[in-house]
Amino acid sequence: MWPTFPGHRWTTLRLLSGIVSTSSTQTNPLPYYVIDEKSTANHDKVPWIRQELGDGVELAAFCIKFIELFGNKLHGNVPQKGACLKLYAMYNPDSPGATWKQEGDIPPLDRVDFQRVWDPDAPCLCLEHGKPLKGRPSIHDMYCNSKCRDAGRIVRCTQCTADKRCGFCSMEDITRGDSKLDKVLQKNRIQMKRMRVVLGHETRVVDPTHEPAWTKRRM
Ligand SMILES: [Zn+2]
Ligand SMILES: [Zn+2]
Repeated sequence: MWPTFPGHRWTTLRLLSGIVSTSSTQTNPLPYYVIDEKSTANHDKVPWIRQELGDGVELAAFCIKFIELFGNKLHGNVPQKGACLKLYAMYNPDSPGATWKQEGDIPPLDRVDFQRVWDPDAPCLCLEHGKPLKGRPSIHDMYCNSKCRDAGRIVRCTQCTADKRCGFCSMEDITRGDSKLDKVLQKNRIQMKRMRVVLGHETRVVDPTHEPAWTKRRM
């Protein structure tokens, strides 16, 4: 790691000779460092980025700064993304980000921001599956469907009591058959279920033990 002096910034002039330091003079009393960014080792890039951004920035902001400083020496999305994840782990070793070895390790919200550094049109991702979603859903509804949304929540009936299940919940074992009567019962049940939501007969609380499906695909 190179020495740092308060008030000095790394400069990015490229010289064949690599690293040159000028001696102090009367007119230019403070030393500065000229670095060939091509030969800058990873452990030197991190303090360089830290000097520019400070501590604790999000992954996407870190990547934008990386590209600004080193992007012209490392071409292509894949090598750049790989380098960013590696350096981010060194930059923020105690954060969850230090465990992100590949794109699929990044939680969906952060992953979208990460992907948009290289592709501004990268789609939103389902918070449950990490699968791309159509359009730009609101932050409150970033799921494929209600099944994905409810996967991380516990649905509770406000009508059941400790002693007695309500009429709706006691119907739970309804047949899934194909007869005409079954079809009518199933249709009624869907309508009643919608009505229960409107009437507030169902509450949903976040399940703190839930592990989203996307985490199970991690290598
Ligand atoms: Zn989903
Ligand atoms: Zn109930």
